[in-house]
Amino acid sequence: MTGLFIGSHLSTSGGWSGLLERSHDEGGTAFAFFPRSPYGKRSKSLAPEGAGEFGLRLREESYGPIVVHAPYVYNLAGKDPAKRAFAIAALEEDLRLLAPIREAGQETYLNIHPGSHVGQGADTGLRLISEGLNRVFDTLGDVPDAGRVPILLETMAGKGTECGRDFGELAAIIDGVDDKSQVGVTFDTCHVFDAGYDLLGDYEGVMRELDGTVGLDLVRAIHVNDSLFGLGSHKDRHANIGEGELGIPFFTTLVNDPRMARLPMILETKEPTATTHRDEITLLRGLTR
Ligand SMILES: [Zn+2]
Repeated sequence: MTGLFIGSHLSTSGGWSGLLERSHDEGGTAFAFFPRSPYGKRSKSLAPEGAGEFGLRLREESYGPIVVHAPYVYNLAGKDPAKRAFAIAALEEDLRLLAPIREAGQETYLNIHPGSHVGQGADTGLRLISEGLNRVFDTLGDVPDAGRVPILLETMAGKGTECGRDFGELAAIIDGVDDKSQVGVTFDTCHVFDAGYDLLGDYEGVMRELDGTVGLDLVRAIHVNDSLFGLGSHKDRHANIGEGELGIPFFTTLVNDPRMARLPMILETKEPTATTHRDEITLLRGLTR
């Protein structure tokens, strides 16, 4: 097996070149970042003009897929039509910002939290998400195929009224999307365990269920996080690798599973020291056989 594509969620201060520098510092071969501020304001540091050059650099350095993370404020399943319209417009803008990176030959995804139905019921929430995604993809008709950045739906822990709390809900969203070439799934190890899938006791069973619902071919990225709380706790609290309930035996299984190990792995763990992520990357690479 070749090396893992791995890295952490990086700050965008310093723009495109700042991202590259931080990734080099941690010894990464993939990474994530927010395309705008956590509250949805457009980023000043990520100028659209630099995106193509950034893609070329990543390509030259043989990076794995980049897994950009949409801000948490987007809610395609929201009750308020204005909130849904904001999410749709912001996603369109983000996908346009990222298009030149993919056009330069660098595979890039935009990961989103599917949304929260805020009391409207899961079925309504799932339908609104599919409809919102269709609207987003419809507005991108002028973007060339090479620049079409797929949206990945993240597996959620099932906190509050989150949609995507099990694989079936993600499959239902995808089912309602017209252009399935534009969607995939991000497998968050903490969230999946937190949602009640026994990654420790029955890893193969979870993989079978994933394949039978979403389909393993649609899983495009991994958020690699340990979990502070136990199976099915629905708390969504990440722990540093090896310091949570999942632990090293689970991560050993993960990085040696050829179905998963080829995907970009993004750390979303805390950084108590300046070298935490570098150390975690080294740790995970060291677990491969
Ligand atoms: Zn996330």
